[in-house]
Amino acid sequence: MNKNLLIVTLISLLIILIPSLLISLGLYFLLGHFLQYLLISMGTIFIIGQLSNQYFQRRIELDIQNFQARIEELKSEQSVEATCAYCKTRMMVPIKLSQRITHACPDCKQVNLIVFQFTTAQISTPLDLPQLGTPITAILNDSNPQGM
Ligand SMILES: [Zn+2]
Repeated sequence: MNKNLLIVTLISLLIILIPSLLISLGLYFLLGHFLQYLLISMGTIFIIGQLSNQYFQRRIELDIQNFQARIEELKSEQSVEATCAYCKTRMMVPIKLSQRITHACPDCKQVNLIVFQFTTAQISTPLDLPQLGTPITAILNDSNPQGM
């Protein structure tokens, strides 16, 4: 038997036994029947322990899933697609604008310096396109209201 498993098992038995003994001793002095109360309190504490273990295990799994999803989200927000300056392989490079960025090419293993070039563009107004699924006759009638 694994040493850690043995320690955990012994601690679990103590966590179940000590409160069970105290509860059943108290009930024995009040009502008698020590063994029955001992078994009932041990079973109750065991079931409560199992339920709380399942609850916390599920909660930890959800936290891990949320954490991994957040990491993926951050990765996708902070990376750019670049072309290797040596072998022209396309690669995703994680970026931080606050520091000098170098990235080793996954293909040729050469280290690239990532350089940004910013420019400006005009903002255009989107066209007023008809909704998808609009019948063609309705579109034609709208654009030609005099019926010509
Ligand atoms: Zn390369």
